[in-house]
Amino acid sequence: MSNTVATTDTHCPYCALQCGMGLRRTGGAVPVSVVERPGFPVNRGALCGKGSNAAAVLAPGARLSTPLVRRDGELRPAGWDEALDLVADRLTGTAAAYGRDAVGVFGGGGLTNEKAYLLGKFARVALRTSAIDYNGRFCMSSAAAAGTRAFGLDRGLPFPVADIPGAGCVILVGSNPAETMPPFVRYLRELRENGGTLVVVDPRRTRTAELADLHLAPRPGTDLALALGLLHLVVADGRTDEDFIAGRTTGWAETRAAAMAHWPEHVEAVTGVPLPQLREAARLFCDADSAMVLTARGPEQQAKGTDTVSAWINLCLATGNAGRPNAGYGCLTGQGNGQGGREHGQKADQLPGYRKLDDPAARAHVAAVWGVDPDSLPGPGRSAYELLDSLGGEVRALLLTGSNPVVSAPHAGHVTERLRSLDFLVVSDVVLSETAELADVVLPVAQWAEETGTMTNLEGRVILRRKAVDAPAGVRTDLEVLHALAARLGHGEGFPTDPEKAFDELRRASAGGPADYAGISYERIAAEDGVFWPCSSPEHPGTPRLFLERFAHPDGRARFTPVQHRPAAEEPDARYPVRLTTGRVLAQYQSGAQTRRVDALNAAAPGPYVELHPLLADRLGVRDGDQVAVVSRRGRTVTPARLTTAIRPDTVFMPFHWAGEGSANIHTNPALDPVSRMPEFKACAVRLEPVASA
Ligand code: SF4
Repeated sequence: MSNTVATTDTHCPYCALQCGMGLRRTGGAVPVSVVERPGFPVNRGALCGKGSNAAAVLAPGARLSTPLVRRDGELRPAGWDEALDLVADRLTGTAAAYGRDAVGVFGGGGLTNEKAYLLGKFARVALRTSAIDYNGRFCMSSAAAAGTRAFGLDRGLPFPVADIPGAGCVILVGSNPAETMPPFVRYLRELRENGGTLVVVDPRRTRTAELADLHLAPRPGTDLALALGLLHLVVADGRTDEDFIAGRTTGWAETRAAAMAHWPEHVEAVTGVPLPQLREAARLFCDADSAMVLTARGPEQQAKGTDTVSAWINLCLATGNAGRPNAGYGCLTGQGNGQGGREHGQKADQLPGYRKLDDPAARAHVAAVWGVDPDSLPGPGRSAYELLDSLGGEVRALLLTGSNPVVSAPHAGHVTERLRSLDFLVVSDVVLSETAELADVVLPVAQWAEETGTMTNLEGRVILRRKAVDAPAGVRTDLEVLHALAARLGHGEGFPTDPEKAFDELRRASAGGPADYAGISYERIAAEDGVFWPCSSPEHPGTPRLFLERFAHPDGRARFTPVQHRPAAEEPDARYPVRLTTGRVLAQYQSGAQTRRVDALNAAAPGPYVELHPLLADRLGVRDGDQVAVVSRRGRTVTPARLTTAIRPDTVFMPFHWAGEGSANIHTNPALDPVSRMPEFKACAVRLEPVASA
């Protein structure tokens, strides 16, 4: 399990690629250093700046090391028993006064599978509340909904990343892995070295778009129209795969009709993508023997995200690019455990194993593993934004872990006010995040290298993060916190503190479900560099490639979904004439709670900015570096202007890693997708105002 006695093989604390790395003990203030782990097949030793600097977050510095309890308006150090007793009393008292659903739980897509599993169990068994969801709803829920709709099963990539270079063409939609997960880019380079072509769809000419054979730059929020236009061209040119459509799909006639109603000239007008570029993209996709469409947050984080992803899946199905090697649709999940975090019960509508909470058979199976009456389990709850929006109203007390919604939630100013209006807020975190600063109780917990647990990467590969160092004195693991709270609520027995015991229970709870982990053990993960689910028994080899024989719907066929383009929930107008889109930068991760505390990363990405085209800047009288006010219907923030020709002149971009002035999510629109309940992070309307220097 270790390269040497002093080196522990583990994985990066950040994104969904879950790069393998080694941690070597140093004996210094930063207790380990990161070393290469070339044997892990996904990243083959490569790490980005976030990963190679990951050890810095283990330094004592800004770490919390004692519980904090608010007294006289101030967060003050307290003992664990005092803090846990207070939390248990307040959660119990809130449920008694207002009903069980007045106590909410909010989790995160970076939690290990074991934590996500036990957090969901804690909500449903110890609290018996339906009010649980997590920040992964903000990440890939539209892709998950569309994948389930089309294939009967959602797994981010239904094939290993190593299959990508074998495709003849890849269309990458709204994804910038050159900044979000740089080691992944090698697969795109290998694709091109093998003669394959890369098409990137992004309103900005990103570092990833620079690598492409063809870059399409649609207006934010128009990816659905773009996909419809491509499908129209494919049909009109007779490039559909009729044998595949007849043999392996249903619903083509309605989908074909919907696409044919979207004339390419109309699509050109809606998207701003010139027709010759549309035709070239369709040609590259159809000329390839096998092709892929990979989406990320661009098309997914829209109020029509599910239909948008369905439109891209329809393109794959119509051309026979699904359910065969080196072809298909996949989602590049973002958060570290974006995949596993959505499978084991912290989602409002799900039970472990990706089972549905409103399915009687699923409830009976999981209740039997938990030793409770199925009728005692609450039903589905509200989605993440709806849960946050209900704080201080229906939900009066909240237990939050692994998330920082003050920075990462849409309409962040409103969410902050909702958090402030709670009767009681308890936050478990590694550092005093912007959300923890609002809490009544803060519980300091261990982090990645200080505890063992499994994660499921973007390929559906279950991997093992191993403990390399002890957590600082005074810090407990999330599993210990859940056990201690459950014990105070009369349920301690069902909440193991040993992660392997928790995983073994998760295996039983997931057995027979869509995401079946029954055959996956810590030993197998270590021996096999991860195991792909579903894996139903110790003898089962795991499933790197899904759908090769049949899709997961009962009839074995994939389903087309006819979809129509519709405008963004908030289009530019006279008062707010510019589109704002949001995203990520290379040196920061998500809400920045960890990476903003790493000197090397802060030096590379020290603060927020708004990116705009020189033509727009000229009209506004703004120069590079000037302070600019970004004004939307939801707020006003002031941030430096960064001028670049790499963005459309009708669009501005803000990275979302910072709070306060420069916060992008102050502006983002909480309009929700009707299927996935994903907010519209990627398109809203703003105006820019120059700010006179003092
Ligand atoms: Fe970590 Fe992702 Fe960077 Fe890999 S690509 S080192 S997993 S942040």
